[in-house]
Amino acid sequence: MNETFPFPFEPLPYPYDALEPALCKEILQFHHDKHYKTYVDNLNGILADFPKLQDQSLDDLLIHLEDLPADIQTGIRNNGGGVYNHQLYFRCMQGDGFCMPEGELANTIHRDFESYDNFCRVMTNAAVKQFGSGYAWLICEKGKLSVSGTANQDTPITETRKPLLCIDVWEHAYYLQYQNRRADYIANWLNLINWDYVDCLFQTTCQSA
Ligand code: MN
Repeated sequence: MNETFPFPFEPLPYPYDALEPALCKEILQFHHDKHYKTYVDNLNGILADFPKLQDQSLDDLLIHLEDLPADIQTGIRNNGGGVYNHQLYFRCMQGDGFCMPEGELANTIHRDFESYDNFCRVMTNAAVKQFGSGYAWLICEKGKLSVSGTANQDTPITETRKPLLCIDVWEHAYYLQYQNRRADYIANWLNLINWDYVDCLFQTTCQSA
């Protein structure tokens, strides 16, 4: 994410009901307008007192967390991560009809996960097993794809590790519709993935890394 302070409250890239029936309008309204917005407001609130950090992109802040003043590291980790993770999560979904990954991205998924179905199994497993609140991620590092989980609003981004896709498994992402059935939410989310957007990230961040 290349934006800088003040970080924008990005509009949802589709109508609130665009992901129904997999994700209902009410979830998207609360998730985007309340949860995500709170992270944006908190992040901007923290950085308002640190003019020297205001020209840093969100990627730079998160990659170099340990270089930040000690008293704001946790705040940037939680709220900067909250902004980054939600922007990627919302951008990586679509409701216009599912399309499989194609071309070099499809080939790389086959190379690193054996098959698309196996990628879905690995991603599902990481998302189901993430204890408590967090995310499961598709990551590209030095041209190789892998899946991992993170807790809370932690982000797996580093100089060489580029997140391409994430699923939010905080209860606020699904509880209103799915209650405790996280696995059902994950199964339906797999059919919402916007592989065109993931492919753009793959082309721009993985091929050059
Ligand atoms: Mn969330």
